[in-house]
Amino acid sequence: MNDTLTKIDQHIEDHVEHWIEQLGRLCAQRSISAQHDGIEETAVLVTEMLRENGFAAEVMPSNGHPVVYGEGEGTGEKTLLFYLHYDVQPPEPLDLWNSPPFEMTRRDDKLYARGISDDKGHIICRLAALTAVREAYGSLPCNVKFVIEGEEEIGSPNMPQFVEKHQEKLAADACIWEFGGVDYDGTPQQALGMRGICYIQFSVQTASQDAHSGLGGSIFPNAAWRLVWALNTLKDADETILIPGFYDDVLPPSERDLALLDKLPDQSARVKETYGLDGYVGGLEGGLEWKKTAVFEPTCTICGLDSGYQGEGTKTVLPATATAKVDFRMVPDQRPDDIFKKLRTHLDAQGFADVAIELLANGRPAKIDPDDPFVKLTLETAVDVYGKEMMVQPIIGGSGPSYPFVHILNLPIVSAGLGYPDGQVHAPNENIRINDLLLGIKHTARIIERFGRE
Ligand SMILES: [Zn+2]
Repeated sequence: MNDTLTKIDQHIEDHVEHWIEQLGRLCAQRSISAQHDGIEETAVLVTEMLRENGFAAEVMPSNGHPVVYGEGEGTGEKTLLFYLHYDVQPPEPLDLWNSPPFEMTRRDDKLYARGISDDKGHIICRLAALTAVREAYGSLPCNVKFVIEGEEEIGSPNMPQFVEKHQEKLAADACIWEFGGVDYDGTPQQALGMRGICYIQFSVQTASQDAHSGLGGSIFPNAAWRLVWALNTLKDADETILIPGFYDDVLPPSERDLALLDKLPDQSARVKETYGLDGYVGGLEGGLEWKKTAVFEPTCTICGLDSGYQGEGTKTVLPATATAKVDFRMVPDQRPDDIFKKLRTHLDAQGFADVAIELLANGRPAKIDPDDPFVKLTLETAVDVYGKEMMVQPIIGGSGPSYPFVHILNLPIVSAGLGYPDGQVHAPNENIRINDLLLGIKHTARIIERFGRE
């Protein structure tokens, strides 16, 4: 290890209590995007925190919640962009929290609060890493920029437009994404892409009011049946999505993707046990086929259904309305607007013009080249910190607003951070392990140091 890295690590270890305190300060500020609770206040607080740590910062308007933009000058030519978010998920159900969600609490080697991992811990991780590198060098070895948004937890509806509008201001050479962390065995994870999403509300209304099922059962159209029949046309029993043209733009995984998947440990038995499954769809047993299907197949998932009476006992009612929420996870190069259009055409062709659909959220899929030098640098620096190689996932099943960063700003994106599988992200008792915070800061600092130096 070179002298600078020793100095950086020493600075991180000496200041961990300071950063924990700053994390407590940030977590004490509510910032629930779904309820528009504390959003403006948090944007101001994050701006203040960036300034206190030597960065220029401003609150920028978007078509939704404000975005915090920050920048700092370095001695090198290159620019590193940090994408993060200051908003959090609602803390409910409150009675399942062992300590107040907006009051950071330390128990044993863990810190608890809403947003402590997702994503306020990562904001602090980046600030701590940058400060340590700057202290060790006397200056930053590269320029840095921050885009810290307030709508990630509601699907980042305005991020693509924001990036497009401000692409010159946001120009950079590489990007560190908002998350990262280790698995159950302490192996750091690298996610090199995300699926897209198309989240749709289906609604049917067949009458102006519910009716007695004895009165209408034989002669009234039934909203619940209309909806069920419409949904039934979307997918067949062997999981094939039946919307014409749905698979047109699907790119199969490359040989390189398959080789990366093949190296990943087979989690099929563990996942099956955790979720109490009898088996996987399509008779999947595990192995490469299971890994490939889990992330490289687009999906059509019924997330929720609602109609009629579901209370105790019986109520002989014929429902006038029915709704469903359905998400499609898309793989490269599928596009949400295209899928939405094809879905409408399909429903009309199947005789379901009466089934209304509304696009509630969407984002395009994006993948990073596993052989990009920035990815290589991130993987190599991780070994020094974690004592083992990162596990590289060519794409993950989830979604995020990475598309405009990859395809408008042309950035390679990597993950690095402090998450771990029992972090209860989005759930009660969200937490991080203090040691993971330290490791995340050290890894982030090494990425900055080497990116600036090379
Ligand atoms: Zn989240």
